[in-house]
Amino acid sequence: MLPEKTYKTGGAGANVVIIGRPNVGKSTLYNRLSGSRKALVHHAPGTTRDRNESLITWEGKHFTIVDTGGWEEAGSSISGAVRKQMLTALEGATIVLMIVDGKNGFHPIDAEIALLLRKEHKKTLVAVNKIDTVRDEPKANDFYRLGFDTVIPVSGTHGTNTGELLDIIAANLPDEASELPQIYDDSIRVVLVGKPNVGKSSLLNALAKEERVIVNEKPGTTREAVDIILQRPDQNFVLVDTPGLHRRHKITDEMEYLATLSAHNAIERADVGVLIIDALQGIGETEARISELILKNHRGCLIAVNKWDAVEQREDAVRAMREQLENKLPFLWWAKLIFISAKTGQRTERILDEVKAVYAQYTRMAPPDELTELIRTAIHRRPLSRRGKTLRLVSVQQTGTRAPYFVCNVNRTDIIHFSYRRYLENIIRERFGFEGTPIVLRFKSGNPAGKKK
Ligand code: GDP
Ligand code: GDP
Repeated sequence: MLPEKTYKTGGAGANVVIIGRPNVGKSTLYNRLSGSRKALVHHAPGTTRDRNESLITWEGKHFTIVDTGGWEEAGSSISGAVRKQMLTALEGATIVLMIVDGKNGFHPIDAEIALLLRKEHKKTLVAVNKIDTVRDEPKANDFYRLGFDTVIPVSGTHGTNTGELLDIIAANLPDEASELPQIYDDSIRVVLVGKPNVGKSSLLNALAKEERVIVNEKPGTTREAVDIILQRPDQNFVLVDTPGLHRRHKITDEMEYLATLSAHNAIERADVGVLIIDALQGIGETEARISELILKNHRGCLIAVNKWDAVEQREDAVRAMREQLENKLPFLWWAKLIFISAKTGQRTERILDEVKAVYAQYTRMAPPDELTELIRTAIHRRPLSRRGKTLRLVSVQQTGTRAPYFVCNVNRTDIIHFSYRRYLENIIRERFGFEGTPIVLRFKSGNPAGKKK
């Protein structure tokens, strides 16, 4: 039976809902289509037998495929309760993928389901499963009697024809499915990074609870990314997958190295990196390397010190942690620090609030007039002269966000040095904040071409 709790099926975009009798191979096919057998079904949080959903992109169309899962039905007719649950599952279905069993052949319940689907005017594609050999393919033809135009033989266990099935699904989806669902688009993309054993997957579990999982690469590619959408009342987040996050592992030096490598790609796909530090172990080389990646990619950053429940002298520990940060990750001085416990859930939700605050800064535009005035005054207050030249501001503009990007047009770029750059950066931060995000300050020579400097 479906669970008591009724949920709205599928995501905000197009939904392909899998329907069929028990044991016809729905979940096998679901796993095959969503392309991530192991990671998705057995390891990802929130994917119970009763609710499997993943976002698939195929031929430029995006859709959520939903396996409505385990109802059981004895006898040869659908009970009223199951019928009701099926109707709930069908709400929001753009296309129904009806699975039948080609090995055991036609069953009276198949006809009942087909009747219900026709009554509901649902676009239905019939996949005849368990057609494991080409020789068996003609068996599929028997299912044309269900009255639907599209009947395609497949094998969930072998993967036969599943690519063709996805082609047909994509071709039957409306054009709107070419747009990524809003929910995915508006989300803040977060990645949890840190060396092995700091508590990344524990934190992921604490945050993810019952959330939906999306697979954002073509099924069948070797490396599928399993991202998780966290739905919160006023903001959605996508927890960007890092390889190895769902796996238990023994820690080796090589693992630490790999952790850095795999963090790289994930950081590129995220807006904000949450650097997790083990409160008991402190900051080491891996943390330094990972935070350099965050910086290099111009991503927002939050530092979360985990396992806070296991710390006894907390005041001392806070002081020690701040000192370590200053010494070992000085370039992250603008990042906020938060002390959490993935184990007890202490402040884990706060992480999302902080990430949201970081994101707001990360995407923020400073008012242009105020910016110009600020930099002009700052240069005036602390004049810079070198080699007989004095720095003059021609103009300053914030040319972009993610991270905030500033271009100062000046008369000479060659006299600017690190500490002066730092001075101006501090002035910008003092006025506008930008807590939690790197800011980029570029200097260009604003002299009109041909004029003598
Ligand atoms: P569900 O109850 O509809 O979700 O069905 P399952 O996916 O759990 O599959 C039911 C049984 O059918 C399992 O023993 C599967 O191994 C088997 N099965 C699924 N797909 C195929 C297939 O393509 N060929 C064969 N021979 N068996 C399959
Ligand atoms: P990952 O390798 O970064 O994903 O780390 P895991 O989430 O697998 O956690 C590594 C170990 O630290 C496990 O034994 C967890 O139970 C433990 N752990 C994780 N978070 C906490 C926490 O907040 N407090 C304590 N005391 N232990 C934790």
